[in-house]
Amino acid sequence: MNILRGLKESGIEFHENKNMSEYSPIRTGGVARLIIFPKNEPEIVSVLSILNMRNAESCGYYVIGGGTNTLFRDEKISLPVISFKKFNADIFENKQNGIETIIEAGAGMPLPAILGYSIKRNIGGCEFFYGIPGTVGGAVRMNAGSKESAIGNIIERIDIIKEDGVKSAVYRNGMEFSYRNLDIKGVSGNYFITKVYLKVYKSTESDIAENILIFKKRKLLQPLSESSLGCIFKNPLGFSAGKIIEEIGFKGRSKGGASVSEKHANFIVNRGGAKPDDIMYLIKKIQEKAFLDKGVKLTTEIKII
Ligand SMILES: Cc1cc2nc3c(=O)[nH]c(=O)nc-3n(C[C@H](O)[C@H](O)[C@H](O)COP(=O)(O)OP(=O)(O)OC[C@H]3O[C@@H](n4cnc5c(N)ncnc54)[C@H](O)[C@@H]3O)c2cc1C
Repeated sequence: MNILRGLKESGIEFHENKNMSEYSPIRTGGVARLIIFPKNEPEIVSVLSILNMRNAESCGYYVIGGGTNTLFRDEKISLPVISFKKFNADIFENKQNGIETIIEAGAGMPLPAILGYSIKRNIGGCEFFYGIPGTVGGAVRMNAGSKESAIGNIIERIDIIKEDGVKSAVYRNGMEFSYRNLDIKGVSGNYFITKVYLKVYKSTESDIAENILIFKKRKLLQPLSESSLGCIFKNPLGFSAGKIIEEIGFKGRSKGGASVSEKHANFIVNRGGAKPDDIMYLIKKIQEKAFLDKGVKLTTEIKII
């Protein structure tokens, strides 16, 4: 079956030849031949079956949430992109006994909106979401967070759909969170996070405000008014990638419209007209120099597709 016909017949939203700069906070990226926006779990299952029907073998695809940690490098992205940007973003609080409470959120829910929801209800535990864009599904896949905490620490359960279209609930003991990554025991292929259960607690307005202040101050050190993908590199164990980049003399270096931020050297910003190749050039040069001068292998935190 033809993919486009399959999507049309199933009533699933898709767009052809979309410039991915529209979906990227760094405002640059190649053109996706096909971007698909499933809105709920049945649509994910349909998309998987439609994509696998094109050929005898699976044709492959990319998955994105909000795309805030993804560089769309290729000029022409030929594999279909499955986006969670329009996926279910329902949220509700499932009160437990005592001060404990669970926030249940659809994977398409933006992380800042969950923080807003919890502030309104005097729920503490997710103050470190402050200043982190993207969807909650993407945040869980990336184990997003700060020095103090990461989302993996407050996850109670997630619902996933595996590549074979089977849905399952995964509890804490089935998840292995590490630095900017989540592995699910027994799942080797791709999986789609569809719902997230956060174990948080009842707090007070003043405690929440005090906690948020810590992250607000930290974010003042980042170039948040400019277009970026957040931190480009992972911090090597015990070191700061930003400090290493500064020490090897790359702070402020530019290629085309892309510059290594003077404010925080682990950020590459688009000062206008940056091409994905300009960003890739800076990444490669930084990696080479860090290895040459310091013997450090910097690996990217961002996903490159
Ligand atoms: C200005 C700025 C500041 C940032 N600050 C921080 C910070 O302080 N801390 C931090 O950790 N990060 C930070 N980031 C990076 C980024 O915002 C986070 O990693 C965020 O959680 C990614 O979410 P996303 O939905 O945009 O993911 P995407 O970039 O869309 O995807 C990231 C990964 O998750 C996978 N994925 C996405 N959704 C799903 C899903 N539903 N199911 C399965 N897999 C999925 C994708 O395949 C990809 O591998 C920052 C980014 C920016 C632009």
